[in-house]
This record gives sequence, structure tokens and C-alpha cells, in this order.
Amino acid sequence: MGSIKSFVDGKCPQCHTGDVFTHKASNLKHFREMHDHCPSCNVKFESEPGFFWGAMYFSYAYSVASFIIIGFFFFTYSDDVNLGYYIGTVIAFTLLTSPISYRMSRLMMMYIAAPYRRFRGK
Ligand SMILES: [Zn+2]
Repeated sequence: MGSIKSFVDGKCPQCHTGDVFTHKASNLKHFREMHDHCPSCNVKFESEPGFFWGAMYFSYAYSVASFIIIGFFFFTYSDDVNLGYYIGTVIAFTLLTSPISYRMSRLMMMYIAAPYRRFRGK
């Protein structure tokens, strides 16, 4: 499906052509920076003030999922789990992948809202 590919590539939820973010996720200094408007169709990404607050729930869900999935590996492959290692691994993993989860959360917010709310130009 085209929209899954444009989601993964960080493309505009409306035209699937313009980039949402100004830099790559690997750019640790600038990975948060977004275009205000789609460079291709000029839709405004933050369609109303506070629109991206909802993205926090996706980040939260992501952290909880990491906690559970990493826990699953720890408790499956070891009989004697060191809780310090487990929690340290979860924290390290969440921090290392935070540029990706940050961007995925915002993209999810936009992609979920896109069919219900036409992102308006300007
Ligand atoms: Zn666009």
C-alpha cells in the first residue's frame, strides 16, 4: 500500500510526496525539525495548535511496548534476570530509538487524522 511506504518514508499524509521532516532521523541535532507546510502540496502539518500533543500517547505506548518486548527476551532466555540490566536495557533502547519513535508518533498522529480532517492549505 502506498500510504504505508510514505508513512515509513516520512512523507506528507495528504499528497504522499513532500517530506514532513527537514532532516534525516539519523541527524541527532535536527531530527525534530519539521516543515510547517508540506513542500509539495502546502498543507499545514500542525493543523491546529496542540495537534501533536496526542503524539505523546504513541510515544508512551512505544515505551511500554519496548518494556514488554525486551522483558519477554530477558525472561525467555534467562532463568535469573538481573532487574538492573533489564531496566537499563529498556532505558538505553528507548533513548537510542527516540528519534525514530518521536517521528513515528507525529506521523501516526497525522496519518490517523488525515482521513477525518482534511489538512487545509496555508
Ligand atoms: Zn503534501
